[in-house]
Amino acid sequence: MAQVLTNTLEHQWLPFTANRQFKEEPRLMAKAEGMYYWNHKGEKIIDACSGLFCCAAGHGRKEIAEAVHTQLMEMDYATSFQLGHPSAFEFASRIAALTPGDLNRVFFANSGSEAVDTAMKIALAYGAAKGEGQRVRFVSRERAYHGVNFGGTALSGLVKNRDVYGTGLPGVVHMRHTDLPEHKFVKGQPETGAEMAEDLLRFVQLYGGDTIAACFVEPVAGSTGWLVPPKGYLNRLREICDEHDILLVFDEVICGFGRTGKPFAAQTFGVTPDMITMAKALTNGAQPMSAVAVRDDIYETIVDSAPENSVELFHGYTYSAHPAACAAGLATLDIYKNDQLFERGEKMSPYFMDAVIDLQDIPVIENIRTQGMMAGIDLAPDVRPGIRGFDAQVKLFNAGLHLKATGDTALVAPALIAEKSHVDEISGILREVLSTY
Ligand code: PLP
Repeated sequence: MAQVLTNTLEHQWLPFTANRQFKEEPRLMAKAEGMYYWNHKGEKIIDACSGLFCCAAGHGRKEIAEAVHTQLMEMDYATSFQLGHPSAFEFASRIAALTPGDLNRVFFANSGSEAVDTAMKIALAYGAAKGEGQRVRFVSRERAYHGVNFGGTALSGLVKNRDVYGTGLPGVVHMRHTDLPEHKFVKGQPETGAEMAEDLLRFVQLYGGDTIAACFVEPVAGSTGWLVPPKGYLNRLREICDEHDILLVFDEVICGFGRTGKPFAAQTFGVTPDMITMAKALTNGAQPMSAVAVRDDIYETIVDSAPENSVELFHGYTYSAHPAACAAGLATLDIYKNDQLFERGEKMSPYFMDAVIDLQDIPVIENIRTQGMMAGIDLAPDVRPGIRGFDAQVKLFNAGLHLKATGDTALVAPALIAEKSHVDEISGILREVLSTY
């Protein structure tokens, strides 16, 4: 048994972290308010990444804390297996009011990864309920990130997230990504590249469209560096899916809740999928929660195909629709509405996009992609991929700015409450630190 020391960094194994470096030079967050964090030394750090894309309404929202407190005092927990509680139903209805088309049925989970695996299971269950049990294949995309559970790992297209975890699920194939060499410093959607959607058609021709359950894409590929879809690309995926009865799933774990200018990227780009996975800004990061919004008739087909009084979908989590998370989510949606945060983000985005694109003269920056309130900044690699990105992330942090780096790409995604002065502060620190390379 390990000796228990209360003031040591040894026992926590941090996720997606260079643990040895971290424990030599820890970056501990101690407090958060609005657009800022404070670390354990009391230094102020601007949050250029909404936590991890989740705190869209800024940090320290008292309304959310109070709603969670009130809920926990009233009722701390109830299972959602064969039981329910009022705020879960209210929250599902409020989410359905934001989703496009007839994506009106909402299944709750606790993380983006769980939402993705849930959507995969719903796609398979839908095929089975329609008498098309042969639809067992999935199509996703290179450079995709769909979380870390085994379903999402199989869908993902980032090599380091896959390479030591075996062969993954059989029957998952990857389209090419849409980050083309001619897309240099593009603001918004690239003009070229819609033809990359034809990769889906090639899989249809290779395997038979009637063997494919669903095509999963992030409308804007987030973690890999904010790859904005070329004009017409998502529309073409929709057409091919329609022609072959393949479900189109948008993984909006990052895109959802105003990041691209509208509640969902589906609305920003005018393409309605059959399911949407969402997580990050659903509770403003205050409680772990995710959801899958599903078309009415998918729900009805699965539910109606089962005998009376029997479970229709053998899937769910102990903490699905946790009361505290529902309370946080309802309070979050109130903030988005009352403060008009989606509209505010949409109005701020031209200023934000100009500010990041203006960094393009810095020698170490190889490319910038931006749309809405997010940007991916590619840095020229150092000796090995990832070294420069990590180094820049640490240097930026030490200079008072928090962002996420994936490989050599810096991801910038300020909260939707950001003022021009915050955008200026973020771009100023980026310029100061990145110019040193
Ligand atoms: N899907 C997408 C598009 C994501 O960006 C993420 C996380 O970044 C996930 C799924 C996984 O979410 P989580 O880390 O909550 O499991």
